[in-house]
Amino acid sequence: MMLVPTFLYSAGMLGRAPMFEGDVRKEMTCITCDGLGRTAEDESCPTCRGRGVADFIIPGPNRPLQMIGTVKDASDKPVEGAEISTRQAEGDQTPLVLKTNEDGQFGIKLPPGAYVMTVSAPEKGSVTESIVVEVNASPLPARGTETLHELKREFRLPK
Ligand SMILES: [Zn+2]
Repeated sequence: MMLVPTFLYSAGMLGRAPMFEGDVRKEMTCITCDGLGRTAEDESCPTCRGRGVADFIIPGPNRPLQMIGTVKDASDKPVEGAEISTRQAEGDQTPLVLKTNEDGQFGIKLPPGAYVMTVSAPEKGSVTESIVVEVNASPLPARGTETLHELKREFRLPK
């Protein structure tokens, strides 16, 4: 048996989507075009390139989801530079700290599990929420290196 270091997978070896433990990769009827090979009259399907079948990843329990978070203040305006602190609900590891961009948005990859997220900004106050990230086992196209399910979430500061 040949041993392949797991970091090669997580780095997206050969431009393929990275695999996580428990993921299953298989060829199946294309879900983007329903196996028709095209998405419009003349347009070849971008997922299967007209073949009708393509490689998909069935996410396992360790595949992260891509959270797209938006932070707004009490008057519904996006907050730039808000600080987001994320830690697992169990254990005492150091939280991961991020800041929002000029649109009040941030992105974080979270494996399925329970988290505590605290969002704060000067003069806007802070809010702490418990987040449970569930496994999303819907197939994902195996092409590309960033193939993750998205999870949208809005945080509202009290002031
Ligand atoms: Zn297709």
